[in-house]
Amino acid sequence: MKNIVIIGNGIAGITAARHIRKKSNDRITVISGETDHFFSRTALMYIYMGHMKYEHTKPYEDWFWTKNKIDLVKGWVQAIDFDKKILHLDTDDINYDQLIIATGSKSNKFGWPGQNLEGVQGLYSYQDLESMESNTQNIDHAVVVGGGLIGIEMVEMLHSRHIPVTFLVREASFWDIVLPPEESEMINRHIREYGIDLRLSTELDQILDDGHGKVKGVKTKSGDVIDCQFVGLTVGVSPNIDFLRDTKLQVDRGILVNEFLETNIPDVYAIGDCTQVREPLQHRKPIEAVWYAGRMMGETVAQSILGNKTAYKPGVWFNSAKFFDIEYQVYGQVNPNPKSNEKSFYWEDLFGKKGVRIVFDSNSMQVLGMDALGIRFRHEVWDEWISSGEKIEKVITNLKKSLFDPEFFKEVDVEIQEKFNREHHSSVPVRKKSILEKIFS
Ligand SMILES: Cc1cc2nc3c(=O)[nH]c(=O)nc-3n(C[C@H](O)[C@H](O)[C@H](O)COP(=O)(O)OP(=O)(O)OC[C@H]3O[C@@H](n4cnc5c(N)ncnc54)[C@H](O)[C@@H]3O)c2cc1C
Repeated sequence: MKNIVIIGNGIAGITAARHIRKKSNDRITVISGETDHFFSRTALMYIYMGHMKYEHTKPYEDWFWTKNKIDLVKGWVQAIDFDKKILHLDTDDINYDQLIIATGSKSNKFGWPGQNLEGVQGLYSYQDLESMESNTQNIDHAVVVGGGLIGIEMVEMLHSRHIPVTFLVREASFWDIVLPPEESEMINRHIREYGIDLRLSTELDQILDDGHGKVKGVKTKSGDVIDCQFVGLTVGVSPNIDFLRDTKLQVDRGILVNEFLETNIPDVYAIGDCTQVREPLQHRKPIEAVWYAGRMMGETVAQSILGNKTAYKPGVWFNSAKFFDIEYQVYGQVNPNPKSNEKSFYWEDLFGKKGVRIVFDSNSMQVLGMDALGIRFRHEVWDEWISSGEKIEKVITNLKKSLFDPEFFKEVDVEIQEKFNREHHSSVPVRKKSILEKIFS
């Protein structure tokens, strides 16, 4: 019987463990220093906001692990002896025959003066959530630095507790390194409508000490001083691999893996956020720190461990997030500025709360990607359209098929079809609205 050990009980490590267990009786051990059980990291914000308890974020009941003979060990792996196949934990040593490293990410810090003061923190782990809970008791003002997905979640969390927030964003518009201008502008407006003091094109210079080791404010590069008792540093994440640097394991920004998620050391694999794919497929990045990629890597590596060597083929890019109450989905390629071969069609509703962009190739007219704000679309439909290179006119014609909740978003597809025809001198058949839709539109 083999001894398979997984470091990390996040989505990547746990998916691997579950899929191996489905077809193998080998011994499986999952180690994590963070929590006893797997929980949904993406739901951390809802615990702070009082919508969920920690117990609700655990996708499996605690008995699931014993029943499925997956041994859980709580502890931090300090070092790995790859020659002897031994993990050194803070309290114990554990041997392995095959090792899967799935240690996730850590929050970035860029050496700002004052970044280690009390009341200054990132948001990644369950421990971060606990310190945010205590750091934000009885405070008058908070500053969040970094305009990405975790930054806006932290702003929403603080806002839910009626804590006034200043949101410092280095870029000229929210997340404009990913979102095209119209989408980014919609989110700027939305953030401000919530009463958030959004400061664009603003960089942090230093975090100020109250003389007792606690934060009392921040200074921006333009010299403004903002008083606050809490600073959220949400300036991105990087692979959590510091304890693996200067070992035999080849690392760069992340643990380097080939298409089979194998590292340079036999019997050692890496998956999830901590991984850097040596030769990513076209339109994919070497490091993709998202839930969905971690799950797919977990499924893939399980196949190889089970003897069915399988390459990681992530398919069409997908991500989803939420900007306060505006949901966001992206499929395939949607660049902030279209490339030379790309055309982009954008529709936004009258109230500026819903938007849909479809990107297509200007020569072949094949759809390359789409993003949506405030409207949910069906994953499998867009995945199929983009991977099969469906033509834009056909996609626009059949848009209703891809709406997740067509009853709720009745007229959207018709408006999109009409706008597309106007802008592209096209004659895509426009769906006829039902009488009810006409009454309510
Ligand atoms: C607040 C927040 C919101 C997010 N929202 C979204 C979202 O909406 N959509 C999306 O796609 N992604 C989102 N993400 C990102 C997503 O959560 C991650 O991509 C995903 O959780 C990574 O999974 P993983 O299994 O690779 O690593 P992790 O979930 O980080 O799990 C790794 C585990 O390994 C443990 N570990 C690390 N080192 C050691 C060690 N030396 N010894 C023992 N244990 C160790 C860690 O403590 C951790 O428990 C969000 C992340 C955060 C923080």
